[in-house]
Amino acid sequence: MTKLYAVYGASGCGRSLMPVARQQLARENDTSEIVFIDDALHEVSEVNGHRAMNYVTFKAQHAEQKFALIAIANSAVREKLALQLEQDGIYLWSVIADNVVLMDQAEIAEGCALSPFVTITSNIKIGKCFHANLYSYVEHDCVIGDYVTFAPGVKCNGNIHIEDHAYIGAGAVIKQGTPDQPLVIGRGAIVGMGAVVTKSVPAGVTVVGNPARILEQK
Ligand code: UDP
Repeated sequence: MTKLYAVYGASGCGRSLMPVARQQLARENDTSEIVFIDDALHEVSEVNGHRAMNYVTFKAQHAEQKFALIAIANSAVREKLALQLEQDGIYLWSVIADNVVLMDQAEIAEGCALSPFVTITSNIKIGKCFHANLYSYVEHDCVIGDYVTFAPGVKCNGNIHIEDHAYIGAGAVIKQGTPDQPLVIGRGAIVGMGAVVTKSVPAGVTVVGNPARILEQK
């Protein structure tokens, strides 16, 4: 079976995840090629030692099975590209660094990127195309939706629910909820870097500071 793997996005996020993707294939003794896909490219080039091409060229490559990790921080773009890949019969690839700690009953949907030093503890459910950047953790009994993004060093404590498309900035700390009253980060909410989130955050708002408060649009 010929396989071809891709990291979709050759900017910051993609170039940081490529070594993680390589590490994963090495761990699995899979010697298939990994390329970059980036739609800003007009012709096949090379990025950090890997062939790089746009999506049209990727689709034209010969392989019986193709896999792509969407390594783009913008969650709306991730959703759009995930739907495109699914339509084209390309598998959403999950990439997990060698030193990630995964405890019991952590159910993670396809297309995740778990960077080095991430910990996912027990009894956790996570949706599609989740990005957990360096040193982030997810504690027990959390439920995370689709296309959620954690910048580096996010501390997501127990019994927290994070809805689809939320973005949690670097070093944010989210207070734990309880089994009957989880702390909820609403759909598409943005938590600023270093924020200390002590109560639920409504959908679509941005919160910053300690304790985190809604940033009013001026
Ligand atoms: N990109 C793409 N196809 C799309 C949208 C974006 O190939 O439909 C690429 C874009 O050309 C860029 C990368 O994805 O190289 C996104 O990079 P950016 O610096 O915006 O963010 P990050 O790497 O942090 O996600």
